[in-house]
Amino acid sequence: MTNKETHSFKTEVQQLLNLIINSLYSNREIFLRELISNASDAIDKLRFAAQTDPDILGDDTEFKIKITADKENRTIEVADNGIGMTREEVIENIGTIAQSGTASFLAALEQSKKEGQLSPELIGQFGVGFYSAFIVADRVTLVTRAAGADTAVCWESAGDGAYTIEDTEKADRGTRVILHLRENKSEEEDELEDFTEEYTIRHIVRKHSDFVAYPIVMDVERDEPVPEDEAILDKDGKPVEGQTRKVVKEETLNSMKAIWLRDKNEVTEEEHNEFYRHLSHDWNPPLAHLHLKMEGVIEYTALLYVPAKAPFELFRAERKHGISLYCKRVFIMDDCKELFPEYLRFIKGVVDAPDLNLNVSREILQQDAVVRNIRKNLTKRVLKLFAEMGAEKYDTFYAELGPVLKEGVYTDIENREKLADLLRYRTTKSGEKRISLKDYVAGMKADQQEMYYITGDDLASLMNHPHLERLKEKGYEVLLMADPVDEWVVQSLTEYEGKKLKSAEKGDLDLDKVDEAQKGEYEKLLSHMKTVLEAKVKDVKPSTRLKESPACLSGDTYDMSAYMEKILKASGQ
Ligand code: ADP
Ligand code: MG
Repeated sequence: MTNKETHSFKTEVQQLLNLIINSLYSNREIFLRELISNASDAIDKLRFAAQTDPDILGDDTEFKIKITADKENRTIEVADNGIGMTREEVIENIGTIAQSGTASFLAALEQSKKEGQLSPELIGQFGVGFYSAFIVADRVTLVTRAAGADTAVCWESAGDGAYTIEDTEKADRGTRVILHLRENKSEEEDELEDFTEEYTIRHIVRKHSDFVAYPIVMDVERDEPVPEDEAILDKDGKPVEGQTRKVVKEETLNSMKAIWLRDKNEVTEEEHNEFYRHLSHDWNPPLAHLHLKMEGVIEYTALLYVPAKAPFELFRAERKHGISLYCKRVFIMDDCKELFPEYLRFIKGVVDAPDLNLNVSREILQQDAVVRNIRKNLTKRVLKLFAEMGAEKYDTFYAELGPVLKEGVYTDIENREKLADLLRYRTTKSGEKRISLKDYVAGMKADQQEMYYITGDDLASLMNHPHLERLKEKGYEVLLMADPVDEWVVQSLTEYEGKKLKSAEKGDLDLDKVDEAQKGEYEKLLSHMKTVLEAKVKDVKPSTRLKESPACLSGDTYDMSAYMEKILKASGQ
């Protein structure tokens, strides 16, 4: 008795199927990712169940996902030895869609289609992954035997509104999903995307499922040297050279390195280096890494790397962010800008968020509360990593990436104080060393009220700037800011630890009171100079900032600094 039944899909399933088939055709290779992801989930579930019921495993404990392609019959099969499904579970899981997701998925799909940017990531985030099989198949057969059950069931559908389900035989636990492939739309496609082709399968697995934690295997045929005792001998009784024979071997296609999900104490430095290289294509080992497992309301794992060298594209418009987003080891997207602020764009790594419930257009991602929460926390943790990195390492980092980090001072108001702590400058007293603002404040003279800085493009000439003469004489230290971005830093960072930051080249420095009597003495000279320089300067004043030099140019407190003028001129403004 096969107990065969025919069911029709729930209406929304049929609707969804049509949408998927029509709209995701150009990304159809993702079907494999979805089936592999389900297989991997099924093994996860089995292992979880085995924690309380070890007998459930039997002697089938070598977990794997096997892909089998049949060129002649044009089928591709994904099989796992995971938890499997009972008849009821098949009807429940495959015949309906996770109720909560359906409506919002359909809405998001319609929306993104209207905007003409349907993204393949949509699929798989709403619990509709299985149906992606119908993008490439005109018939799908699923044979499954639940862990602990003796009987198996066979589900089959042509994606046309109905499916059949009947009892069947299956020797072992787990699920096989067999896709009967559609004819390709053109011959050109046949060559490019023949999903029965070993090379194509290998490529898709590497691209989308490399970090799946179980081996994804395939039988491949290889030429192997014939062993001596089976070889054909020549007339002297020696084996004829170069004899080979065909052998079929099971090969693992994925590297399985979901190292972010492993215990952080178990991951070796070598593995980190290798993984970082895989992510970044940077051959220098990373300077530092951060491995976080967040539990609680929002669960996610993050493995982040700080490069030792500034990536070359850092200031290019088309630059990429370094974060790849995963959901339970399945790759969702790279270049995920939403998970980090711009000024941390050099961080490379992976964020794996199992509960991310998003209808994934990047615009929506930006407003997602879970994503915002992750972003906020990751930013905090990365800034902490910098703060605790150790002086020498941090110095290396700062020399390479300081200019990017500084962007945060004026873009990330929430973390401005932490970022200010991370600033380092050379000063009129520090020699070759860069010091922190904290150190600066600690070294302030007893009578010194404000923190002095000067901006420019060349450290050596800043150091000898006439504006600094009197400050130097009084023993006041001056921060030397020689990076264009510093102009923006000082515009938003007006004070630190209650001390005002003051430009040494602008406004009155109020270092000493100008002697009024003396002022009268110079009145004539000053007004004469003013007349002569009328077209060039606003005013001519006695100054307290000079010591050796007779005169200097200086701006009003709210004027642009000389360096800023230069930057703007250079950029054509
Ligand atoms: P999701 O994986 O997001 O839940 P899918 O459409 O990919 O959505 O799968 C629907 C459901 O079908 C799964 O949640 C699971 O219960 C069941 N399922 C799919 N494939 C398998 C499998 N290989 N083994 C066991 N159960 C499976
Ligand atoms: Mg799935």
